[in-house]
Parts: sequence; structure tokens; C-alpha cells
Amino acid sequence: MAFEYDDSNIFARILRGEIPNDTVAENDHALAFRDIAPKSPTHVLVIPKGKYVSFDDFAANASADEITGFMRLCAEVCAKEGVGLDQGNQGFRAITNAGSHGVQEVPHFHLHIMGGRMMGPMVI
Ligand code: IMP
Repeated sequence: MAFEYDDSNIFARILRGEIPNDTVAENDHALAFRDIAPKSPTHVLVIPKGKYVSFDDFAANASADEITGFMRLCAEVCAKEGVGLDQGNQGFRAITNAGSHGVQEVPHFHLHIMGGRMMGPMVI
């Protein structure tokens, strides 16, 4: 079964410039912006610019350049937000939700980068 991308999702609309976002960083392949309802002092969403529904869609179908661009932007966000270990900070949590069991609300792949406080235990 192929992944079916819905062009009307809110992150597609952000990428088309139809609704505003609070951009943290951007490159050719990905965009990082602040979550509209932050759950921690740092709560940034990183999304690919390509049309990928979920983590497994991106992992299976994105090009090497897209994957590298996405991951490098994640590293840039960690550094800029003062949570990256490479800068001697205290760290962060990076999570992605996929599908109904993963409780994914927006069907465009995104990674949540959260930090600035001690996280709780992983909730399953
Ligand atoms: P999900 O449950 O992993 O799909 O998370 C979707 C996230 O998108 C939630 O944390 C929302 O707060 C966030 N969100 C929804 N709409 C917007 C928006 O317009 N700008 C920024 N974040 C958004």
C-alpha cells in the first residue's frame, strides 16, 4: 500500500506560505518552526519540504540529500536552541508520532525537538 499524502494538511499549508509560522531554521530540504502549543521551553517541529506522510514514509522514500538535509537541520536547531550535547547543554527529547496508534495529528512527517526542562518518563 502506498502512502497517500493529503495536500490540505496544515504543514503543507505552512510550506506553501498560506499560513504563518515561527521559523527557527531552514535549508533546501527542511523547515523548523516553533510548535503552536509548546509542551516545553524548547518545542520545535522539523519537517521535510517533500511530501511525506510519516516517519516510515520518509525513511523509505526520501532521497539521501533530503534525509541529510533534514538531519542537519535538526542538529542546527539543537545548537541554536541551546539543547545540543555538542555545545555542552543538558540535552533534549526528539520524538515522532505515526498513524492512529502513534496519535499523529498532522499527516506530514515531523520530528518534535523538546528541551529546556527535565523530561518525564516515556509515556506509552
Ligand atoms: P502530532 O500529534 O505529532 O501530529 O503533533 C502535531 C503538532 O503540531 C502538535 O504539537 C500541535 O501543537 C502542532 N501544530 C498544529 N498546528 C500548528 C501550527 O499551525 N503551527 C505550529 N504547530 C502546530
